[in-house]
Amino acid sequence: MTSIQGKSAIVTGAASGIGREIAFELARAGAAVAIADLDAAGAQAVAGEIAAGGGRALALAMDVTDEAAVEAGVERAAAEFGGVDILVSNAGIQIVNPIEQFAFADWKRMLAIHLDGAFLTTKAVLPHMYRDEGGRSRGGTVIYMGSVHSHLASPLKSAYVTAKHGLLGLARTLAKEGGRRGVRSHVVCPGFVRTPLVDKQIPEQARELGISEEEVVSRVMLGHTVDGVFTTVEDVARTVRFLCEFPSAALTGQSIVVSHGWHMQ
Ligand code: NAD
Repeated sequence: MTSIQGKSAIVTGAASGIGREIAFELARAGAAVAIADLDAAGAQAVAGEIAAGGGRALALAMDVTDEAAVEAGVERAAAEFGGVDILVSNAGIQIVNPIEQFAFADWKRMLAIHLDGAFLTTKAVLPHMYRDEGGRSRGGTVIYMGSVHSHLASPLKSAYVTAKHGLLGLARTLAKEGGRRGVRSHVVCPGFVRTPLVDKQIPEQARELGISEEEVVSRVMLGHTVDGVFTTVEDVARTVRFLCEFPSAALTGQSIVVSHGWHMQ
């Protein structure tokens, strides 16, 4: 494996849940990490914890749907850390509703955060990854946070499923465009992970589906796993680190499902 010690990473949505653990994992591996999130105080707290543990971190208040904010944040991280080697486009939300009741504004907000956010952050980091350094591109790794829902559908999640499927297209296109310039891309696809995003869904899904919260967990969330166990933030963070440390482009343009066997490809 290739060490990422001294590399520079930007993780969006890193004030909470999966992104937060990815930031810690990359910092433990020796990378300098920019914690980009809408929640500025949360980003500051995570950056402070990493710094207190001896790591290098920078908090960035960033709405990933705002092109100017994304560009300013990426430029700040690149200036502070001397470049950008890793982007983890992870910021996301969930809104559940049947299609006929799904507000158009909610649909647009979902696609903006998941897809526009992935596009804008990618576009902003690529000049840094394509930068010529001694006759060759600096290169880098871009990881999109997909989901098992990048591969299959569940009721009530039209916008989420659409957005998560869409990330596969972006990752594959980037793998082709970036291949000769040392840029690799992947979609990491977790099953259910107990984070605020999922905790919020349990009562909402129970109400919509007319079942108990226990049934939402055992049937809807874990019913298709091989062992009835939640995926953890650590499982996802370790997978991201593995992909960043993988030494060649033999692995690029892939989707890696981390889900206790829910959807095997
Ligand atoms: P979370 O709610 O714990 O964290 C999401 C973070 O994204 C929050 O800190 C929030 O402030 C930030 N965010 C939201 N909108 C933003 C915006 N416009 N700009 C910048 N930051 C913004 O959620 P999580 O469960 O850690 O989810 C992280 C990612 O993982 C999402 O893309 C989600 O779809 C994906 N995912 C989660 C699960 C799961 O079961 N939790 C499973 C598969 C995929």
